[in-house]
Amino acid sequence: MDKIKIKDLEIYANHGLFEEEKTLGQKFLVTVCATLSFRDAAIYKDLDKSIDYGTLAHEIYDFFTKEKEDLLETLAYKLTKFIFDKYKIIEELDVEIKKPWAPINLPLDTASVRCIKKKRDYYIGVGTNMGDRESYIKRAFEEMEKAGLEILDSAKIIETKAWGKTDQADFLNTVVKVRSFEDPLDLLHILQKIEIDLDRVRHEKWGPRTIDLDILLIDREVIYNDELKVPHPYLHEREFVLESLNELVPNYFHPILNKKISDIYAEIKNEN
Ligand code: AMP
Repeated sequence: MDKIKIKDLEIYANHGLFEEEKTLGQKFLVTVCATLSFRDAAIYKDLDKSIDYGTLAHEIYDFFTKEKEDLLETLAYKLTKFIFDKYKIIEELDVEIKKPWAPINLPLDTASVRCIKKKRDYYIGVGTNMGDRESYIKRAFEEMEKAGLEILDSAKIIETKAWGKTDQADFLNTVVKVRSFEDPLDLLHILQKIEIDLDRVRHEKWGPRTIDLDILLIDREVIYNDELKVPHPYLHEREFVLESLNELVPNYFHPILNKKISDIYAEIKNEN
């Protein structure tokens, strides 16, 4: 992939934990490295297919001088989000903010933070079998958008019998494809917060719920840790998940089973 980099853009601004930093201000050095494909810009000599680094530098400057933040971490995260939102063609961003005059009573070159993020496509399973089910799905979608997830596609909503623990009301299910620069664990936590905000109470495994949000697939990635397992470990056993995934990505190759979604779906349909 190609990269465009602005290195050590010098900005005088008023960020910092100490009151003096906010009133007196100080120097910051901002480095932004964007990963994208600028092949079309190069071949067709079209700057719209790339990023004008002059414009970007001014946008960073305006962003940086508009507000006052306590933490470099907040600045780096917000700047990353701001640039991703403005330039959809960027796949990865590496944002570094240095403070050469950090007030720590010791000589230093710079203190800095870096925020390194990449865009991923996430497939999220959505299920509900309590209360106003349509409304919970609608609200879940709204909350995802509010949290900055870009909804790219969604399967039709289907009504299904409860899986696992069968003595409960029928579910409405769907799968939504979202794009996000949030890392997988951060995305899981975003979804868990949405579940809680939408009245989700955990009583029993596979019990009734107002909303259930599961990460089913993330690009071609395999993740296996205590908190998060991707591809979702029950994905290939749940016909309703496969039906929706088959609608969206029949040719997706399950990275552990080494089979296409359409084939896994056909197998489970034949069994039932
Ligand atoms: P559930 O009750 O179905 O919402 O399951 C939630 C639990 O499963 C949480 O403790 C998560 O940390 C864990 N988990 C593991 N992998 C995933 C995944 N791919 N998506 C959602 N939750 C997951």
